Amino acid sequence: MNLYEESSTTSQSLLRIALTASLAFAVVGCTKPPVSPEVEPKAEAPSAPAEMAAADKGFVCDDDIDTTKLSAEDQALEDELWRQTLEYLKGFTTALETSRLCLDSPRAVIQTNDGQSNGVESRCVSRYRDVELMVKHVNWVLDHPDEARTCFDSQKNYEAFPLYSPNERMKKASKVASWIDRPTLNDYYADKSGLIAETGRKLGKHFAAILDNTDSKGFVDVDMTYKGLPDLWAAVGWIPFYAEAEKAINARFRGGYAYAEVMGPWGLLRIKEIDGELIGAEIGMTIQLESFYPYHFHHSQELYMNIGKSSCAKQNTYMVMHWDNPSFVQKRTEIGWDVTIDKRKHRKATWFRPTSPTDANEWIAYYERNAIHATEVGGKCGKGDAPPGFAQVWARTSSRDNNQTTKVCVPIDAKGNPKPVESVTAKDPVVCHLEDWKP
Ligand code: ZN
Repeated sequence: MNLYEESSTTSQSLLRIALTASLAFAVVGCTKPPVSPEVEPKAEAPSAPAEMAAADKGFVCDDDIDTTKLSAEDQALEDELWRQTLEYLKGFTTALETSRLCLDSPRAVIQTNDGQSNGVESRCVSRYRDVELMVKHVNWVLDHPDEARTCFDSQKNYEAFPLYSPNERMKKASKVASWIDRPTLNDYYADKSGLIAETGRKLGKHFAAILDNTDSKGFVDVDMTYKGLPDLWAAVGWIPFYAEAEKAINARFRGGYAYAEVMGPWGLLRIKEIDGELIGAEIGMTIQLESFYPYHFHHSQELYMNIGKSSCAKQNTYMVMHWDNPSFVQKRTEIGWDVTIDKRKHRKATWFRPTSPTDANEWIAYYERNAIHATEVGGKCGKGDAPPGFAQVWARTSSRDNNQTTKVCVPIDAKGNPKPVESVTAKDPVVCHLEDWKP
């Protein structure tokens, strides 16, 4: 089962194309030989950087990198996009290596409610092996920019699926985005109507204002935001991911959400392997207008850095709880687990936590495999005049193995049967059909 089974039949359906591509990838991914642990270089050893610098790192790019020769003028624009890409990656990996609350890494929220003490659960995030590998791989890129550059592609002529710029104003303000000349979200919604399209246009309109209301300096000494890297945020390929995905239910969310990928199988920097190691890092950004992103889950682990500033504590909140959390009801099925979520039975428990780019406890969260998560972006509040909308730095750590499909939990009635609804909130009971992860 996948998220897009019931999406519209438009022949140009972006999501169907994306799905086809990701399924094709999954098949290829499953046939790859596993990386042998004994051939892993000891990148953590103190002497490793000198050895690595001397050696050819053996970068293997994805096979769809555009190698068209550019004019000197265009090359300069692509160079700038590359520079800002590296800066974004530097901020990302530096943030994960900076000591905050743990001695050697940030401490990330891994459950907003542990289901037992009803408290939040956190962990020193670099101790997760997938995070450790992602940091190592991004550092390999930063240490070998010339080799990594061979896998970089502005995606100006990208054919796998359409990519968008947020709006005309942001595009015009960036020479790089003007050169790449992607259609805008307004173009995407031009022939569409209804609440999804209306919200989609609103997202395009408020995009820059939402991005202006962000901060990364609270947790890392690199400005990863739109202010610091304006060409990257305007020129990276944005995808209105849920616009045609009916299973995401909420129209305001489906129109009001987009994400973009800087590094990863579908992003600007597409590295398949380095030194025989599969590169699972998938790093980008998300944006969401005032709306509820329903409970959902996926195999790949995920990491968020909350760069969006809030006007009050409850404006932008999120929840993440492990699928086997005692607050849920789990039932074994032939292919995995059915996990029933009914927040009404836990009235006094806080599931949703605030986000803040400057609070050491609230700026980073890590989602384990099949963790159930949701994001609630609220309306205007407090004294701030920030527009209701929320941007995050987003990453998956294992984007090149197993099933990458994001699945949304299904609303149910009192008897536990699927219930057709037009909108869903955090309090509505749902069932999440988990599938086993097969190594
Ligand atoms: Zn997710």
